[in-house]
Amino acid sequence: TPIIEVKDIGKRYGNVIALSDVTTTVKAGEVTCILGDNGAGKSTFIKILAGAHEHSEGTLLIDGIARQFSSPRAALSLGIATVYQDLAVVPLMPVWRNFFLGSEPTKGAGPLRRLDIDAMKRITKSELAGMGIDLRDVDQPIGTLSGGERQCVAIARAVYFGARVLILDEPTAALGVKQSGVVLKYIAKARERGLGVVFITHNPHHAYPVGDRFVLLRRGRSMGDFPKAEMTLDE
Ligand code: ADP
Ligand code: ADP
Repeated sequence: TPIIEVKDIGKRYGNVIALSDVTTTVKAGEVTCILGDNGAGKSTFIKILAGAHEHSEGTLLIDGIARQFSSPRAALSLGIATVYQDLAVVPLMPVWRNFFLGSEPTKGAGPLRRLDIDAMKRITKSELAGMGIDLRDVDQPIGTLSGGERQCVAIARAVYFGARVLILDEPTAALGVKQSGVVLKYIAKARERGLGVVFITHNPHHAYPVGDRFVLLRRGRSMGDFPKAEMTLDE
């Protein structure tokens, strides 16, 4: 079974229909792209998957079980991690510290146990290297990394802490061509490692090379859910 099945999901805010008729799947080792311009309903869809908003129509199945998330924590506890565009990083803190920010108690034997600093640095370095980012120095403030590298650190952190599905909110939108390439390579790596990825973007040129399936949103409605074989990219 797919990790996530979305069936005719919709969302109303009062009288406003922000989203309707979205049907798709997220499978391990696949990238599901959600494509649409401003106002298409992308943010609304993210919030439903991330547990920040409840859906008002349709069914959301996780591992075959119907869910209505009531908090981001509920989604995270099922392995669904969201990396937002405005990353929750502290620019002046070292890369390794950001990697472990707020997460220490979930690893280790008891609630008060912390990994020692050397171990945290070692893990940060090797997790990033495993995804193809070679940092000379994990002691440097994360604010000195490029936007693309910061996205990659946030993704690596989610993977290390047990995410099965990564929801990526416009991870390339604020980046230039080269940095976007870094992030797209990273998405491909996550896919290779067997994660399910939901890649939200307005840029078909970014979605097409890494995507397995494509949901096209337009003004709050889904135009359908298409496998890659049915898509072409106009130059
Ligand atoms: P996108 O992220 O693709 O730009 P959104 O999901 O933000 O699209 O918005 C989809 C539609 O729903 C838009 O018409 C937007 O104005 C409307 N909308 C989004 N959030 C709310 C809200 N909290 N209250 C009312 N309308 C909303
Ligand atoms: P983005 O598309 O970059 O996510 P938006 O400007 O579309 O940003 O939306 C920012 C926030 O405002 C979102 O949380 C969205 O749900 C909310 N929002 C969007 N449109 C409306 C609206 N018409 N009324 C109330 N809230 C809205």
